[in-house]
Amino acid sequence: DERQIVQHCNRLLGLERTPLQQAERCPLTPSHYAYLKIADGCDNHCSYCTIPSIRGRQRSKPIEELVAEARHLVGRGARELILIAQDTTQYGVDIYHKRRLDDLIRKLAKIEGVEWLRLLYTHPAHWWDGLIDVLVETPKVCRYLDIPIQHISDRILAEMNRRTTRTEITQLIQKLRERLPGLALRTSVIVGFPGETDDEFQELLDFLGQVRFERLGAFTYWREEGTQAAGFACQVPQKVKEERFHRVMSLQQKVSLRFNRSLVGRVLPVLIDQQADTPPIQFIGRTQMDAPEVDGRVLITDGQTRVGQFCKAKITEAYEYDIVGQIASPF
Ligand code: SF4
Repeated sequence: DERQIVQHCNRLLGLERTPLQQAERCPLTPSHYAYLKIADGCDNHCSYCTIPSIRGRQRSKPIEELVAEARHLVGRGARELILIAQDTTQYGVDIYHKRRLDDLIRKLAKIEGVEWLRLLYTHPAHWWDGLIDVLVETPKVCRYLDIPIQHISDRILAEMNRRTTRTEITQLIQKLRERLPGLALRTSVIVGFPGETDDEFQELLDFLGQVRFERLGAFTYWREEGTQAAGFACQVPQKVKEERFHRVMSLQQKVSLRFNRSLVGRVLPVLIDQQADTPPIQFIGRTQMDAPEVDGRVLITDGQTRVGQFCKAKITEAYEYDIVGQIASPF
């Protein structure tokens, strides 16, 4: 049914929260940020995924239509626009016969009132230098990128039909970190893909420990009827999948805590998402390194501000997922 499809899509797209992230979240979506769906459908055919058969081929919205929609959202109070699609990096291929996410970003960044542009769901195989150039020259694009790698073993990547390799993913990450200082990278990985050996899982775990993604979602492989991977031999037992999931999450908690601790003492721009009624927390916000719903929060314990405002907050404490801060000044 529709609910199951949505849950499944959320899981595949990295929208589903881990148990640790589920605590104390407000379900309301405020008006100061908005999702801008730039395309629907997908032509990638990852072997584990049903989305192409449910949503069909990719259909991008024309740039002019998206600019008009963005202006409308900004008119209603949105200050952060979050670009989404099944694969945002493929935006435009179906209607312009070339990737045009770079052109779209240039146009959206010119809209008065847009403060943050956030890119979700980029495909590691579909990045190109021109897109990185636009991010470098457009400070409104959050120094946050979501690049779901799903795995790092070349054999598993090929079985997943991800059309990329460990070497290419590593080079892309190096290039992004070099050209975009202060970048926070989010990824998602699938553990327990059919045939994933102990060594292949260890390769993934070692890679995550080396690259230290600032944000990460992990998922256990789900055998989805009708997909190519559902018919693969050597399905991994559920217990093994869960054990691997916990090892990834336990590593990520350490990575995340270390990163968050590095922020203590710094003054960061924060967008206030909601008022809090749990003293000493007065407001809850996000840095540009956090997407709503899936990433960490800034818990503001002191200072005057209001929901939908940008401010600068001095970070005073750090936990695995959230950080604590005090308002230092208006934006
Ligand atoms: S990129 Fe792959 S995982 Fe994402 S929607 Fe398309 S087929 Fe599914």
